[in-house]
Amino acid sequence: MAHRSQSGLSAAAVIDIWEQGAGRHPLDQALLLLRYACPDEPFETLCEWTVGERDRRLLESRRNTFGDRIDGYAECPACCNGLEFELSSEGLLGSASMTDATWHRVEQAGRSWDVRGPNSRDLAAAAAASDLDRARRVILSRCLRNGPDTVDESDWTDELQAALAARLSELDPLAEILIDLRCAACGHAWQSVFDIAGFFWNEIHVRGRRLLQEIDLLARTYGWTEGEILGMTDHRRRLYVGMALS
Ligand SMILES: [Zn+2]
Repeated sequence: MAHRSQSGLSAAAVIDIWEQGAGRHPLDQALLLLRYACPDEPFETLCEWTVGERDRRLLESRRNTFGDRIDGYAECPACCNGLEFELSSEGLLGSASMTDATWHRVEQAGRSWDVRGPNSRDLAAAAAASDLDRARRVILSRCLRNGPDTVDESDWTDELQAALAARLSELDPLAEILIDLRCAACGHAWQSVFDIAGFFWNEIHVRGRRLLQEIDLLARTYGWTEGEILGMTDHRRRLYVGMALS
């Protein structure tokens, strides 16, 4: 998998990812994208990156593959009006500070805790939980370590859980990319979470399907193999597609 993150994903990589990730859990799709974006990193390392670090790498790979501009769509929670918006990958990357997976000592409710930002393995464990409250406890139990005091889950009040969860998100600011939106129809303003992994996956899905259609057309028109067609630059492939259709 010689697809450097700097150069973005090749057409062949897009097809591979699309094929391997179809129908899988979004967490697995994100790790698959990461594997192609960072081919030199061992899989273990990818799994242990905080969600913020994961998303930073995905943003970079997505920008190098599809360009800086992100065309988003959201629905106004007040009047259900559809809203198109534009984001800059560079802007999102620039507003985030570096995140790390190390343990940090925090004081909360008169006690000391060692906490770290959640990673893909923590999210996978939480995804198996029966409800949101249970999921939050799973994340906390994995990302909290005994300081001088022992961690006893039965001591966790809702208040303490919420406070510790807030400390976790401070440690990993890119783990949740919040964007400010305002509805053009009713003026309602709100914050929405931008899910880079899901967004990138949808683009891979759309691009993968279009590439297959192009391969089908060019193979039938010119008799070229799939490998030959995928090996072309996007620019040249599109020129041939235009000629085949004219
Ligand atoms: Zn509205």
